[in-house]
Order: sequence, then C-alpha cells, then structure tokens
Amino acid sequence: MNTVDKLYKRIKSNTDSLLGYPLAKDFSYQQFAPFLDLCINNIGDPESTSTLAIDTKEMERECIAFFADLLSTNMDDVWGYITNGGTEGNLYGLYLARENFPNGVVYYSESTHYSVKKNLHLLNINNIVIRSQENGEMDYEDLEQTLMLRRDKPAIFFLNIGSTMKEAIDDLDKIKAIIRKFAIKDYYIHCDAAFLGSVAPFVTPKPKFDFSEGVDSISISGHKFIGGPMPSGIVMAKRNHRNRVANSVSYVGTFDTTITGSRNGLTPLFMWSFIQKFGKEGLNRRVQESIALADYVKDKLNELGLNAWRNGKALTVVFDKPSDAICTKHQLASEDDIAHVICVPGIKKAHVDLLFEDLAKEQKALEKELVLA
Ligand SMILES: *Cc1c(COP(=O)(O)O)cnc(C)c1O
Repeated sequence: MNTVDKLYKRIKSNTDSLLGYPLAKDFSYQQFAPFLDLCINNIGDPESTSTLAIDTKEMERECIAFFADLLSTNMDDVWGYITNGGTEGNLYGLYLARENFPNGVVYYSESTHYSVKKNLHLLNINNIVIRSQENGEMDYEDLEQTLMLRRDKPAIFFLNIGSTMKEAIDDLDKIKAIIRKFAIKDYYIHCDAAFLGSVAPFVTPKPKFDFSEGVDSISISGHKFIGGPMPSGIVMAKRNHRNRVANSVSYVGTFDTTITGSRNGLTPLFMWSFIQKFGKEGLNRRVQESIALADYVKDKLNELGLNAWRNGKALTVVFDKPSDAICTKHQLASEDDIAHVICVPGIKKAHVDLLFEDLAKEQKALEKELVLA
C-alpha cells in the first residue's frame, strides 16, 4: 500500500472507532469534488463582495441567516461569518467585547475550553477565573463575590453553553440576577456554544443563551454537531459591535471585519448544502436521535457499575475513567478520574456496544485478579 492509501486507511479506521470527541460523522461532500481543483477565497467581510471574485459569500450569507433564525434573531440586528472553528469565534467575541470596553474584566469558569486563556492573552484583557461546580457549571457564589469587589469595571461574561468535558451550561438567568444585584451598567455577554449551538435550540426545556436573551455574541463550531471534512465555525454578534471594528480596505475592496484576511470558501459551501439537506427539521431529528443514544449509553455504563451521569439531556455521558488501553482504542477524552462518550450523529449502537464489550472484558479480568489475590 502506498503512503497516501495507508494514511487514508488510518484516518478512516480511527474515525470509525472514535467515541470521545464531539465530531459528527454522517456527512458526505463528494458532490463538491470539482471545487477541489479551484482556489476559493471568501476574503474579508461576507456582506461585501471583493474585487477578488472567487468566493462562496452568497452561500455564507445564507448560512448566517439560517443561524440568525435558529438563534432567535434576524439579519437586521446581527452580523456573522464562517470561521475556522469555535476558537476563532471566541477570539472574535472577546475582541468585540474589548473594543466595546477596553478596561473591562472577563469572567469565565474553570471548565472553560483551554483555548480561551490563550485568546485572552493575545487580546491582553484583564480576566478572572471563576470556580466551577462539580457538574462543570459556573459557581455563581464565587462569581458574585468576585464581582462585588469590581463593580466599577465593565464586566465581560464568557459563558459555556456546553463545557468541553461535562457539557455543562452556565445559567444566564443567574448571571443576569447578579448583574441586576450589583447594578452593573456596562457589561457584555459572549456565549461559547461550540458544541451545543446547533443542538440547544431543539432541546426542551431550551437552554437560555441566544439573542432573544440579549447576549452580545455567540460562537459555534461547524465541524462538531453539524460535521464536515475540515474545521469550521460560525460567529454571530450584534451588528453595532461589528460596525465598531469595520475598516474599509481598498486593496481588496471589502471591509476587514474578520480575524483572518483570506478565508475558507469550501466550508460555507458544505454548511450551506447541509442546511439545504437537513434544515431545522433534520437538525431536530439528529438532536433527538443523539439524546436517545445518550440515554442508552448512560444506562449501559451504569449496568457495568461505572457511575455514569450527564447534565440534563446532554449528549455527553461522563463516567469513571477506564484503562488507558480502552481510552486509546476508543479515543475517549479523559480528565483526572473521569472520561466521556459524546453521542453525535454517525455513532451507532453497534459502535458503543464495542466499547461496552471491552469494558466488560476488562472488569472480568479485574475480578479474576481479585479472586486470585
Ligand atoms: C471545541 C470547543 C472549543 C474550540 O472549538 P474549535 O472548533 O476546536 O476551535 C471551544 N469551546 C468549547 C466549549 C469547545 O467544546
């Protein structure tokens, strides 16, 4: 087998066995193969065409309009673009927050994605880490005590709408109550909905995190619940925030409103075709199927005595970390003494059953050892 065939085989087989990361697998974009022979570039602002006219911005705008609707708003009030992933969307939200409040302080919990610390460092914004509760949600008492001492500074809240390890959702109502309690006038709310941005709108009760709740910006990953052959994301923000940072650039004939100059033109095409194919109804179906699979996984793990639990109707099932061999084989992310399975479209019962078989085998071996000892 040649090198490239070997590489393909490795990635394909590792994709099939992957259970611990939030990456949907049920996609195919073969129909767009002819585009692989073209250079596509969505340089600059998605709403203004560039002199460089080899773009998919029309599709990009349709994707953004779809997400605006999903997040309870419309294109008059918000603006957005397709990013290279959730990290870029979070960087963008924090950038807008800083341009709004240069002397603001960012509050975010211990459960926050590792990339956020780096984003804050890049932007050089003051920031304070708030303790997390056992379930991964922000500790609101710690937030309250921390804020009490800094009521004079604008507050920038960086909230997890599905934390990476435990899929915890920070409670917007509780944050708002604290804002009212301390009469904080200058504040900005960014929601990191990397995984749940396209899931939460279809869960009942619906977690509060969208523009109808008055949040300022939201970041979502495109390659997680929606899925796709390369990383992507969506960032959306109130239009006035975007206007504050818009500079016109004559060299490319568009506004330099995005983090990178040249931007991926394939991912908007893929996302657009996903939306054509699934729409809101199809997304809802995928969410309900994933929730049902998570129910099954949790029950099975508990039958094996592994203390499985999840936050509400989360697609992430947390349980006692098994051996390194099992974590490696099934690509289970782990932290301290816990691991998780994330139930995304494309994972079938047969896949998780293989994990349960391995876990059961390992337990039998352990019991045998105990008996012998
Ligand atoms: C995955 C994730 C990110 C980072 O998103 P990328 O798309 O990998 O850049 C940020 N926040 C949370 C909560 C995530 O789960």
